[in-house]
Amino acid sequence: HKVYDVIIIGGGPIGLACAIEAKKKNLSYLIIEKGCLVNSLYNYPMNMTFFSTSEKLEIGGVPFISHSPKPTRTEALEYYRRVTMNWDLKIRLYEKVTSVERKEVFLIQTDKDSYHSKHVVLSTGFYDLPFLLNVPGEDLPKVKHYYTEPHPYFGQKVVVIGAANSSVDVALETYRKGAAVTMVIRDAEINSRVKYWVRPDIENRIAEGSIKAYFNSSLTEIREHEVDILTPGGSLTLKNDFVLAMTGYQPSFTLMKAMGIQIGDDPMKTPVHNPDTMETNVKGLYLAGVVCGGLQTNKWFIENSRVHAEVIMKEIVSSKN
Ligand code: FAD
Repeated sequence: HKVYDVIIIGGGPIGLACAIEAKKKNLSYLIIEKGCLVNSLYNYPMNMTFFSTSEKLEIGGVPFISHSPKPTRTEALEYYRRVTMNWDLKIRLYEKVTSVERKEVFLIQTDKDSYHSKHVVLSTGFYDLPFLLNVPGEDLPKVKHYYTEPHPYFGQKVVVIGAANSSVDVALETYRKGAAVTMVIRDAEINSRVKYWVRPDIENRIAEGSIKAYFNSSLTEIREHEVDILTPGGSLTLKNDFVLAMTGYQPSFTLMKAMGIQIGDDPMKTPVHNPDTMETNVKGLYLAGVVCGGLQTNKWFIENSRVHAEVIMKEIVSSKN
């Protein structure tokens, strides 16, 4: 069995950045990705524009040229494909890591194969596990935790849950493409982190009544043609065709715990790691990218976590000597 210097779990932008740094340092490496290349970005809303300008999404010194200052999802997919080809990165796609065990070296088990490696980088992001509503009817096919495009919702009665960036974008886009949109919002107002250039748009649509919004409210049950909402004024039943539950996502704590990574008891459940080296409490096992924030999914982005790649590979090289 070949023993790699480092195996990188997750082929998102930061997993790719780690592979590039490993290659630069002549380390033997492999990326294992459970979906397609940059799977999270692929699953973003189809018409999404990044909030980052393109140079902040660059990795491996490859220039990212986009038509507007802020690139679209399509441009980002093109960019990361080109980076992967340009650096000739070794990546196994559609292969899911199911367990990592530390023996003399790490044993990495996937749904297809097993691998040995001296070091492991976990760069699995947070986009695979949506927060559930935990209400009856959530398993109906009309309930979506991922939003792709507005067309299917034309002429439909849509409830959008949440008031952060994704919910607001989805409410505005489906409204503009002919859906009758009702937002159900737990708090008393639109989330303060909503992009400053989007906020007036949603506030004005709500004020003029073209998007309905129930604040301080929550969904209590979903049925085939209706939903129940608990509002400060009492319970309501609305006719409904689709529920778009944009309630956020969380990293897989189950996978991290199974690997032996301790989870902090802070409210953000930060996985235990040394921020100077990105090494976890398991020796030789590192965190890279947005996964290191635990539940704090608004602290790490591509622009401030791509540096993890360099930090980790430097650490791995020095631990070899
Ligand atoms: P990800 O890109 O999430 O990559 C993790 C990868 O790991 C995925 O491809 C996943 O399939 C894979 N994986 C997970 N589990 C396994 C497993 N068990 N085995 C194998 N593979 C696995 N950030 C920005 O910097 N700018 C933006 O404009 C921006 N816009 C965003 C918009 C939306 C709608 C969302 C949800 C996030 C946005 N982000 C943005 C945050 C963004 O998700 C991250 O910055 C970026 O994707 C982080 O890269 P990553 O490599 O850490 O994680």
